[in-house]
Amino acid sequence: MSDSCSHDCSSCGSSCSDRTAPQSFLAPCNPNSSIKKVIGIVSGKGGVGKSLVTGLLATGLQRSGKKTGILDADITGPSIPKAFGITEKATGNNDGIIPVTTKTGIDLMSINLLLENTSDPVIWRGPIIAGTVKQFWTDVIWKDIDTLLVDMPPGTGDVPLTVFQSLPVDGIIVVTSPQELVSMIVEKAVKMAKAMNIPIIGIVENMSYVSCPDCGKQIPIFGESHLNEIAAEYSLPVLGRIPIDPSIAKAVDEGAIEDYNSDWLVPAIDAVNGLGA
Ligand code: ADP
Repeated sequence: MSDSCSHDCSSCGSSCSDRTAPQSFLAPCNPNSSIKKVIGIVSGKGGVGKSLVTGLLATGLQRSGKKTGILDADITGPSIPKAFGITEKATGNNDGIIPVTTKTGIDLMSINLLLENTSDPVIWRGPIIAGTVKQFWTDVIWKDIDTLLVDMPPGTGDVPLTVFQSLPVDGIIVVTSPQELVSMIVEKAVKMAKAMNIPIIGIVENMSYVSCPDCGKQIPIFGESHLNEIAAEYSLPVLGRIPIDPSIAKAVDEGAIEDYNSDWLVPAIDAVNGLGA
C-alpha cells in the first residue's frame, strides 16, 4: 500500500495486499470516441456465419437510423471489409486511427484495412493479436456510434478474453448452425458470459434450412433444429433463423452485403436497439 493510499480501490491499479475491490481491466476508449453500446457477436467455431450475421445486423441497425460501427476482432480471419466491398486503407492523424466508412455510413476497423496486402497472413502470437484488438478500441476514433458490433474470433481464446475484460460489452449474441453441437456451444457461451458478467442477448441460427425454389417449403437439410428447446432451457430468446441461400454468399463475395434485403434479423435488431432503452 502506498503512503498516498486513498483506500478507494475502484480507481487504483495497484495490486497491493490490502486491495478490497477487484481490479478493473477496462481500457479507456480513444478520448475522441463516443460509443453508446458495445455488442459482441460470438460463435463456438469458425464458418458458422458469425461475420455474415455481424454484417447483416450492422446493415439493419444502420437502416433503423442508428449509427453503427464494426470492430473486426477476427485478426487471423478478417472477412468484414470484403463483405462491404471496402478496399481502401484506414488513415490516421495525431488523435488516432480513423475507421473506413461504408457507403451507408457504417464505420469499420479491421486488420485488413491496415495491411498492405490483404492476402498477407497475420502470423503473430496470441498476446500480440489480443493487443491489436485492444488498440482497435483505445486508438481508433469511433465517432458518434450508437452501437459498436465486435465480430469476435470463434471460441474462448485470448481475444475474446481481452475483449470481455477491456471493453464495456453490454451483451453478446451467439451465432450457431444446426451442424454444431448446439447445446454444448450454447452452454459454453452461457457459462463464459456468466463468468465474465456479461448478458447474453440471444441466439441466431444460421443455415437453418433451405427454401424450395418451387414451392417455398423449408427443408431442414441438417435435420430438425433443436434451437427452440435449447433456447427455452437457458431462457434465451431466439433472435433469428437464416436459411442457406446462394444469394447471400453472392452478396458477400461481391461486397454488396448492404444491398441485401431480408427480415430474418428483425428480432435481433429490435433486441439490440431495445437494450438499455
Ligand atoms: P464465420 O464468421 O463464422 O467464420 P462467415 O460469416 O465468414 O463465417 O461465413 C462463412 C462463409 O459461408 C462465407 O463465405 C459466407 O458468405 C457463407 N455463408 C454464411 N452463411 C450463409 C448462408 N446462410 N447462406 C449462404 N452462404 C452463407
